[in-house]
Amino acid sequence: MSDAETLFEKIIAGEIPSEKVYEDDTTYAFRDIRPQSKVHVLVVPKTRYRNVAELAAADPQLLSDVITTAHKVADLEGIRESGYRVVFNTDSDAGQTVFHVHAHVLGGEQLGLFGR
Ligand code: C5P
Repeated sequence: MSDAETLFEKIIAGEIPSEKVYEDDTTYAFRDIRPQSKVHVLVVPKTRYRNVAELAAADPQLLSDVITTAHKVADLEGIRESGYRVVFNTDSDAGQTVFHVHAHVLGGEQLGLFGR
């Protein structure tokens, strides 16, 4: 297992510092260190799966918890009304770099269209 694969587990455990936004029994949310929008928060399940497809297959309830936390983050960040985006980058063409599934919660400003 590479460092990249254990990075978010270390963040959840507090071994690597992070700016926590929200935590409950199954999920942890923290600010992305390289924000791509005014609000950019990552939501991770405390149990590691490689990507959202593996999470969905193995534990649909935990996927639901991650989505629910993403929307809680939108409330906490005050962007529920103005709108926001929830993104799971999945494997190489999508640019996934950390192989512990995470939802990006993006907003706080008008977001560009995405694609290429
Ligand atoms: O979807 P992807 O795997 O590319 O997203 C990983 C995200 O993790 C990046 O947006 C990166 O800025 C973030 N990151 C972080 N803290 C770290 C390492 C990566 O917030 N220590």
